[in-house]
Amino acid sequence: MKKELIFLGPPACGKGTQTNKLSEYLGFPHIDTGSLLRAEIAKKTEDGKIAKSFIDKGQLVPVDLVGRIIGKRLSENDCQRGYVLDGYPRSLEQAEILEKINSDLDEEKADFKAIYFDIDTQILIDRIVNRQSCPKCGEIYNKKFKPSKIENICDKCNVELKTRADDTEEVAKARFDTYYRETAPLVEFYENKNVLYKINANGSIDEVWQRLLDIINK
Ligand code: AMP
Repeated sequence: MKKELIFLGPPACGKGTQTNKLSEYLGFPHIDTGSLLRAEIAKKTEDGKIAKSFIDKGQLVPVDLVGRIIGKRLSENDCQRGYVLDGYPRSLEQAEILEKINSDLDEEKADFKAIYFDIDTQILIDRIVNRQSCPKCGEIYNKKFKPSKIENICDKCNVELKTRADDTEEVAKARFDTYYRETAPLVEFYENKNVLYKINANGSIDEVWQRLLDIINK
């Protein structure tokens, strides 16, 4: 059965690290709307220009723009067996759009799970301002909590690590406000549909990974 896995949780809760690992483990694509939008910005497309003005303020990019990008991506061939979706949906309106996309694409019933990373939010700003990632493989590092072996260089690809433009304290605070206002209500939305799986996201990468595998293999 096709597996549709979506991930919820506040900024820097560890979703990116775990969903990258999970997509490798399952052999499904890792689809992350933040990265898709940053790719549009790097290519300087019209969508990229619009997206940048919202991302820079820590706000959600307009629903139609993200819906178009995600609808196109989920209809690609590599998603036929399943996908790991990180960063979408981020509002009730987007959750309804995703239901429509899935019902248009799915020929038979799929296994849909919404996995919520439940975490103590005190440490998250510190995680954000120290975060770095590899532009080639997407591996996520943290100058304080998970440094690369050689400073600013990816352990796997040997290329220079990048810091996201929106990983500043000021924008991070706005992203938290947006999260609590727009995205947090999705926890209840999916709970009511009996597809919500809560994971304790406090602890080491390996501890959280084991908890995630328990849910995936249920
Ligand atoms: P992320 O990489 O998931 O932290 O996302 C970075 C930024 O991209 C967010 O702060 C939003 O401005 C934008 N973004 C990512 N995903 C979405 C989405 N599903 N809907 C609207 N905006 C998004």
